[in-house]
Amino acid sequence: MQTYRGSCHCGAVIFEIDTAFTEFTKCDCSLCKKKNAVMAKVHEDQFRLVQGEDVLGLYEWNTRTAKHHFCKKCGIYTFHRKRVSPDFFGINVYCLNDVDVSIVPVVEVDGLTMPLESEE
Ligand SMILES: [Zn+2]
Repeated sequence: MQTYRGSCHCGAVIFEIDTAFTEFTKCDCSLCKKKNAVMAKVHEDQFRLVQGEDVLGLYEWNTRTAKHHFCKKCGIYTFHRKRVSPDFFGINVYCLNDVDVSIVPVVEVDGLTMPLESEE
């Protein structure tokens, strides 16, 4: 287990995670596809927001279970609370300092077929 620090582009949002990476995921749902995000999954106990709560934007869609966060200043997606397992965060691995993303295998997860809720 190691501590990694990450931030958005402008540096307003800073967070830390404690993890030992085994895999990253890429999701093909309509949102992740547009973000082109590669993500790491960590439990909420392994996640700390160091700074930037005031600039953290929230995007919710579909079932509104997942909480997609981004920096309101620079627009970068930093992390989100997951829909299937809300105790876990998905982390944008490209926001992490000193992580060689290429050495961890990327698993493609099937988000496209997750059921959508009708707009009410
Ligand atoms: Zn920012």
